[in-house]
Amino acid sequence: MNEISKSPSNKVLIIGGGVSGLVNAYSAIQSGSSVILHEKSNRLGGLIGTKLTENGYVEQAANGFLNSYFIEKLTKDLGIELLKPEKAANKRRFFRSNKLYKIPISIFQLLRAVIGFCFINSEPQENENMETWSQRVFGKAFTKFIVEPAIGGIYSTELKLMYVQLVFSKFTFHKNRSLLRNIFLNRKNKSKSEKPKIRGLVSFKKGMQELIDSLHSFIIKNNLAKIHLNSEITNLNDILKSHSGSEIRICTSLSGTLRLLQNWDIAKDILNKFKLDSFTYQSIITVTRFGMDTIFPYPAFGILFPREEGILAKGILANHSIFKGRVRNMPYSETWIYSGDLIQDKNDDDIKNFLEEDRKKLLSLSKLESLKTNSDIHIKIWKNAFPIYNKNLYNFNLCLDEIELACKVRNIPIRFYGNYRRGIGLRSLIENAMN
Ligand SMILES: Cc1cc2nc3c(=O)[nH]c(=O)nc-3n(C[C@H](O)[C@H](O)[C@H](O)COP(=O)(O)OP(=O)(O)OC[C@H]3O[C@@H](n4cnc5c(N)ncnc54)[C@H](O)[C@@H]3O)c2cc1C
Repeated sequence: MNEISKSPSNKVLIIGGGVSGLVNAYSAIQSGSSVILHEKSNRLGGLIGTKLTENGYVEQAANGFLNSYFIEKLTKDLGIELLKPEKAANKRRFFRSNKLYKIPISIFQLLRAVIGFCFINSEPQENENMETWSQRVFGKAFTKFIVEPAIGGIYSTELKLMYVQLVFSKFTFHKNRSLLRNIFLNRKNKSKSEKPKIRGLVSFKKGMQELIDSLHSFIIKNNLAKIHLNSEITNLNDILKSHSGSEIRICTSLSGTLRLLQNWDIAKDILNKFKLDSFTYQSIITVTRFGMDTIFPYPAFGILFPREEGILAKGILANHSIFKGRVRNMPYSETWIYSGDLIQDKNDDDIKNFLEEDRKKLLSLSKLESLKTNSDIHIKIWKNAFPIYNKNLYNFNLCLDEIELACKVRNIPIRFYGNYRRGIGLRSLIENAMN
């Protein structure tokens, strides 16, 4: 995928007020541009949001993200402090046959994965999906019990539906090279960026909302910036006429971008050329449970569940032992994550039943004797939260690259950002918006 540098412009129009749009507004203001941001809903943050309840914080989506030098620079400018996780957050466990494991496979299966990592050609083959690629490189057991739950913990999607080149969109696979060799070559070719002071996962004292609120305050403090809430942009032809000379940054979700591309003259021919299929999405449900008891036998980050191990959830986060200050009246807080076909058209009661069913099965892990204790449950249903990262979406990204280039040739600076572009994680979204 090609990279086009942002053209210097005095006026920037941003469509979408999620984290991608807000960080874009921040970086445009920093480079001296005036900014107008349109957000279709009545609040900023998009998927991100933190609710403060009587028992503690409840994250609606992301509960933390990987830190980087650029993120430290951003948060320093905004005057907010990054929150490091507790030591227990290093303890991630995989579930297999009713037990928890650091490494849920045999020594021989692990050896097979190490050999594959060091010696097997890692370049994705024609028609390989994430599952078949991972099985070829690491072996079946490593794929089923480690790769699938770990990737599932990020994308909530089955490996067989995912396209390797899109999941590793910032990584170059050199011909006939092992993954180890490719990692080395990618590191060598990467310009040396400065290292962050805090490595790994971070959040904020008041949860992820603190980032959204401080970006909001930063933007509205600037005389040359304006935010319009409840303001959906529906027609790019009109926007280009009314904001001629402005740089346009589209920071919507995939479905928002597709709606904008409909009827946009410049995009029509390019879209037709790519002959894309219809897009598929992933719905996801987070259930945060405050309680007097926990399923976790010891302080930990969480548990990941492979498919076919009898547990409906994809994973559980032990909020009470990841970041300090997440709980108030009750000692424990867990977030359970459900996704896939299982949750289609399910209501809150169905989800509570899933939770109790899972807790019953996991009772043997904890020191609990019964499930009958006080709890306070918060459910957030995200219908079609993000796209499935498949080959069709990869091709759509190529198509968007071509649209950006066609616009550049016509002197129309327009660019697309968001979690369907180059990675779902906040680190990548924030860095793309800042650079
Ligand atoms: C349950 C869940 C857990 C997650 N956990 C993590 C995690 O732990 N770590 C991590 O790094 N990432 C996590 N993510 C991913 C991350 O939260 C998202 O990728 C990220 O928040 C997306 O931000 P965005 O600004 O690109 O898009 P969005 O948040 O989708 O924002 C897009 C905005 O554009 C607006 N919009 C759309 N169309 C228009 C229009 N036509 N006109 C005006 N406005 C429009 C929308 O209303 C929305 O506000 C998680 C996601 C989910 C759902």
